[in-house]
Amino acid sequence: MIINLAENPKSITTSGYDVCIAGAGAAGITLAIYLGRAGKKVALLEGGDQEYTDQSMDIYKGNNTGIEYWGLERCRLRYLGGTTNHWAGRCKPLDDVDFMQRDFFGLPGWPINRSDLETFEKEAKVVLDIDKDFDAPDIPNWSSERFIPDRIARSAPTRFGTKFYDELEKSSHITLFINANLTDIRLDKDLSTVTEFVIKNYGNQDFRFSGKNFIIALGAIENARLLLNCDSQIKSGIGNHSDFVGRCFMEHFNVDLGMFAGNKKYLEAAGTTSFCTSSAFSLEHKIGNANVSMSVSTAPGVSGGRSKAVKKFVRDSICQWQTLSELSKKIRLLSLPWRWCYRYAY
Ligand SMILES: Cc1cc2nc3c(=O)[nH]c(=O)nc-3n(C[C@H](O)[C@H](O)[C@H](O)COP(=O)(O)OP(=O)(O)OC[C@H]3O[C@@H](n4cnc5c(N)ncnc54)[C@H](O)[C@@H]3O)c2cc1C
Repeated sequence: MIINLAENPKSITTSGYDVCIAGAGAAGITLAIYLGRAGKKVALLEGGDQEYTDQSMDIYKGNNTGIEYWGLERCRLRYLGGTTNHWAGRCKPLDDVDFMQRDFFGLPGWPINRSDLETFEKEAKVVLDIDKDFDAPDIPNWSSERFIPDRIARSAPTRFGTKFYDELEKSSHITLFINANLTDIRLDKDLSTVTEFVIKNYGNQDFRFSGKNFIIALGAIENARLLLNCDSQIKSGIGNHSDFVGRCFMEHFNVDLGMFAGNKKYLEAAGTTSFCTSSAFSLEHKIGNANVSMSVSTAPGVSGGRSKAVKKFVRDSICQWQTLSELSKKIRLLSLPWRWCYRYAY
């Protein structure tokens, strides 16, 4: 069943759930679907609508005071399906080394091993519509002791809100609430157990959801942001007694290595290739698991994508802007290699 809290529904069930899940992106939808199939009564609470809306997206806005980062309202999507509405679908299994305690990080490592996840791999592929094995490109002589070809599988890319919409709507165990923003998490008097999710629609109407279990699945940045913001009972935010919430956030560590000229015939066969660090190399140099990718552009030419729109705009404008015609002509003749267009388009 799907209930839209923007329509101010008169009577809704807000208690008696086995699980209340906030956020209907990749994590929230997957959990709701599997718990629902197992017969659990689930409230899935999504802050956005079924489609993109500005009023939901505006809530993602924020000031970044640390290291330069993408605009907070640009890199994520705040509606049913979450960021999977524009993710790329590149999937890669984790390595043993990712779970290990590595003293140089000063962190305890994970309480689980890679092998604990293996049992879920098959099912995760079903969710992500992956029917192939994780595969490394066959590039003879390109492996070294430090870098090995990456094992990747590609999801469709699956849009979770679209793929699971019918099941969410028809399920007798799951109720999906849209326009349902988690704004506070209430704790019992010992401050040790969650008792309620405080949910608001865009009319500032309050709904209190309770159940046996509570899950926040708002995405990496927003989970931390929400916990820190839940200061009505604990000043430093929920779970932040060690000032650690959000401290392990990490983006892809992208470094442009530059352009390389190589043997055209040989490189063409390689296409876009990525390599990851070997475990031995990571451990020896005390670094995290890293990835290097190389995109081969043997024939830089005019982009059929982004520059096409610019050219059309300029061409259409020429007759109106006589005085700018000389400049327009120059831009019209502009020819950008694809990778440059890409770099400057952002
Ligand atoms: C351009 C791009 C490309 C990517 N490509 C890849 C890729 O190739 N491979 C890969 O593995 N990953 C990729 N990712 C990352 C991937 O999309 C995310 O890791 C994944 O979507 C995270 O899932 P999630 O459920 O944790 O969060 P999200 O999918 O972001 O879902 C969070 C949900 O919570 C909702 N929400 C937020 N706040 C509230 C609130 N207060 N109350 C209620 N609901 C709320 C949001 O509306 C959203 O629906 C990419 C990301 C981007 C931006």
